[in-house]
Amino acid sequence: WAKAAGGARWSVFDPDRHRADLARYALAAAIPAAIDRGEFFLDYQPLTSLRDGTMLGVEALVRWRHPELGVLRPDSFIGLAEETGLIVRLGGWVLAEACREAESWGARAPFVSVNLAVRQVHRPGLVQEVRSLLAATGLPPERLQLELTESTMMSTAEEPVRALRVLADLGVRIAIDDFGTGYCNLAYLRDLPVTELKVAGEFVTGLRAPAVDPAGRTDERILASLVSLAHALDLTVTAEGVETAGQAERLRAIGCDAGQGWYFGRPGPAEGCLGRSPALSTMAGVEPVASAG
Ligand code: C2E
Ligand code: MG
Ligand code: MG
Ligand code: MG
Repeated sequence: WAKAAGGARWSVFDPDRHRADLARYALAAAIPAAIDRGEFFLDYQPLTSLRDGTMLGVEALVRWRHPELGVLRPDSFIGLAEETGLIVRLGGWVLAEACREAESWGARAPFVSVNLAVRQVHRPGLVQEVRSLLAATGLPPERLQLELTESTMMSTAEEPVRALRVLADLGVRIAIDDFGTGYCNLAYLRDLPVTELKVAGEFVTGLRAPAVDPAGRTDERILASLVSLAHALDLTVTAEGVETAGQAERLRAIGCDAGQGWYFGRPGPAEGCLGRSPALSTMAGVEPVASAG
């Protein structure tokens, strides 16, 4: 038995691992029926202007109300859905649900931002799917934003690029999610009709007032550089994972356009984040770092 010989992790057959794999695939196999039974739902999280505290839009985040396991976060099933190809169906449900709900909010949420998996973007039917959803729900294209990760755009295939151009021409907004942690191939900023960069929360985590934490300077300099890069390309920048007033204030001082994170609002039912300006008063009262300049 390979495992007995020095506890090698490369054993031919590991029963625990095997059980875990079976459980994962059972979970994946349950996705289509769960869609039909209405077990998936969307939470929404506000994207807030760092300039005036207004809500610019909301991001749709999928959850699974599993009958036995409780409410599952996307990290426990999105990967599986991608591996098995079921993401196309699940992602289609997410898109449809987000468009339908966003249309009903009217002006209370300027746009809804939907995460797209690699497979969805590389599938020939994407443009047609989005077009029909917009037509069916009546949501104006400007009120839909699609979030792609850097790894989604890693491949240089022409088809997805063409599809995204068509969607952008319709007026759909295109954001790069988790910017700065993927492959950072800057060529896609040139080749794709991107409108927004969402900078990964890990750069925000280290952000503190310089006097308090000199080590936070590196994250701050990276963020500042990303902001100038984005602005030089006429893109807006949203910082993810903003948890404190101090971080929001630093981001505003750096020139970042918008923030998303627990400080502005946790993901939850749409009613919770529509039509209010979360944390505006608190933010305005924080240390006036952004002085004349
Ligand atoms: P993401 O698109 O980068 O979404 C942001 C994640 O950060 C969300 O986790 C959100 O709950 C979390 N977050 C928000 N504010 C804070 C904060 O202040 N601090 C911290 N520590 N975390 C914060 P969630 O909802 O678990 O989603 C995880 C990832 O799953 C998403 O990352 C996205 O990549 C993926 N995902 C979610 N919904 C969908 C979907 O409908 N389709 C696809 N393909 N992927 C999805
Ligand atoms: Mg996202
Ligand atoms: Mg993100
Ligand atoms: Mg993420």
